[in-house]
Amino acid sequence: MQLYRHLLGSVFLPAYDGIRSRRYVGHSRFLEVSQWWKPEQLIAFQWAELHKLLRHAFDFVPYYRWKYRAVGASFSDIRTWDDFKRLPRLTRGEIRQHREELCSTAYQGKLLPHATGGSTGVPTRFYRTYESYDWRTAAKDRVYSWPGLHVGDKSVYLWGAPVGDVPKYQIWKTWLHETVQRQRTFNTFSQTEELWWRIHAEICRYRPAAIVGYVSSLQQFAGFLGRTKRNIPRVRGVIAAAEPLFEGVRRTMEEAFEAPVYNTYGSREFMSLAGECEQRDGLHVNSENVVVEAGGEFDEPSNIIVTDLHNYGMPFIRYETGDLGKLKDGLCACGRGLPRLAEIEGRVLDRLRTADGRIVPGEFFPHLLKEIPEFVQYRVEQKDLERIVISAVMTCELSSHSRELLDREIGKVFGGATRCDIQPVEEIPALPSGKRRITIGMAG
Ligand SMILES: [Zn+2]
Repeated sequence: MQLYRHLLGSVFLPAYDGIRSRRYVGHSRFLEVSQWWKPEQLIAFQWAELHKLLRHAFDFVPYYRWKYRAVGASFSDIRTWDDFKRLPRLTRGEIRQHREELCSTAYQGKLLPHATGGSTGVPTRFYRTYESYDWRTAAKDRVYSWPGLHVGDKSVYLWGAPVGDVPKYQIWKTWLHETVQRQRTFNTFSQTEELWWRIHAEICRYRPAAIVGYVSSLQQFAGFLGRTKRNIPRVRGVIAAAEPLFEGVRRTMEEAFEAPVYNTYGSREFMSLAGECEQRDGLHVNSENVVVEAGGEFDEPSNIIVTDLHNYGMPFIRYETGDLGKLKDGLCACGRGLPRLAEIEGRVLDRLRTADGRIVPGEFFPHLLKEIPEFVQYRVEQKDLERIVISAVMTCELSSHSRELLDREIGKVFGGATRCDIQPVEEIPALPSGKRRITIGMAG
């Protein structure tokens, strides 16, 4: 179906952009070329974009004006990368407390609200612009093209489902998007043997170019293939997202899928940040859209700091993601000039279990709990099959709406036999292992 891909890329998507005054296609074409630029050229582009963004932040974003003035930084002081790296970082806490002052006064009424489950159990609510959305989707599509999944190719997603009351137009919009993109999505928030059989049957029938999924869902599906001694038709690649991909897990998956597995790194605040090319030797950063700082003084992994170059409506400048990582030296054998992240230590999410023996990926909770505005930070722990405890730092008591949403969505996934208790706490203590677990399964 090369023809469909061609029509989508050269006729339908440009027409959509034209009608809606959007820029996805333009950014996509640019990114296709710029990935082959030399590192110096990419850095020069990045600096020019950064300069524009900082100018905007100093002129139109009340919070940055105030924050930078407090440390004595003015726009004209920022002449080099070192000057930029001296600007104070932005934290999740600041976004929570100063969300409105972080919005540009030049973009009033033009912002799209969005929420994230957060990579450390801290939900964040933020805004983005259409312009930024077009940049980030173009960047994500480029990352997915490296394993061979091009826009318009068939794909199967082992993903989650929206929570809460989803408006009808949203369901329709998602359906239209998935149909046009030829994407089949399975909700893996509630895993049964029957689900794996259905996914297997669909992959055999639909013959996708690639499979995309949460690491834990792909891992479970790979386990199913091994257990039942099934194969799947050849795919170009398997794209792992949302959770850290450990080498042992990658190898097991590659055996089961008989295809290379590609690691990607992203977050809801920025969508796609980096992904592996065909060399699979570090993750190339989408450096035309984001500035990623990582790597400590002694070559130790350090907090990954991200600046989004194109979200002018609510600029994220030197934002602490809470993930650890470091940048890799040298050039990739593929010839792309994009910098690479060597390793990423993201969040760890344990699986949970339902009373009737099903498995629920930890990813379900950040997905659900981002909808609960009273939670500042949380940790979910399964005490036994009948009881889940959410320890949470809260702004105020749960509203009846939030309580109902929690009970309903947890009931949908876990069934009626599992109770969910909320335990308000002053702080979420660090675990002795030092790991940043936001869901903890039962022992054993
Ligand atoms: Zn490469």
